Amino acid sequence: MFNSNGLEYSNGITLYNSFLHLFFPYRCLDCKIELLPNEPGICVFCQAGIEVVHLPIEPPPHLTVDDVEIYAFFYYKKQGVSQSLLHALKYIQRRSLCVYWGRSFARQLSPNIIGSLECLIPVPLHRKKKLIRGYNQSELIAKGILTEFPHVHLNTSCIKRVKHTKSQTKKKRNDRLSDSSEVFDLLPFDIGSYKHVGIVDDVITTGATLMGIISLIRARVPHIRITIFVLAVTK
Ligand SMILES: [Zn+2]
Repeated sequence: MFNSNGLEYSNGITLYNSFLHLFFPYRCLDCKIELLPNEPGICVFCQAGIEVVHLPIEPPPHLTVDDVEIYAFFYYKKQGVSQSLLHALKYIQRRSLCVYWGRSFARQLSPNIIGSLECLIPVPLHRKKKLIRGYNQSELIAKGILTEFPHVHLNTSCIKRVKHTKSQTKKKRNDRLSDSSEVFDLLPFDIGSYKHVGIVDDVITTGATLMGIISLIRARVPHIRITIFVLAVTK
């Protein structure tokens, strides 16, 4: 499933990147073998270890809202290839890979799923964290998805993360839940002008973060249709 996508990735990289690759070859994010230019961060052998999700998925235990569909690309496994990939997207500046895997995800989605979707809202990072990281991985994943669905637009101006939290992965579950409802705020943008929005994140674990955002949106627009797109879901 990755071969054709991989070739397109190869066509997209610049001559400059090819030059760099010659002297500083990228290595597989998992097994560290040297990659071919058309391999998207993960070698073809490790790609076989990524288990693709059959869509859609059941809501995780703490995402307790009605009428929300959730689509995920692959399963997240600790110590697995998926963990190496997600870590790279978030922490080691692999921006082009965020877009690439977002696009690959979009190719698994039926046009019927996207049909009435008007915009994608990436889960925002706090301003300070974005400044430190230099990018929001969820925003780049959303951009990758939108390359396949150009009629949908990206909206990064309706929700803001208002509290700087430690990495969710380092916190206890109870801490994550108590934080979820207070870390986001709606900006003055009129979200009521939408009938169907998508929310994009890199991974869904308990669902607490997404619950915080959905509760906020539904408090303002009770009947809005919401679809969630995440690259990975815990099994
Ligand atoms: Zn590998």
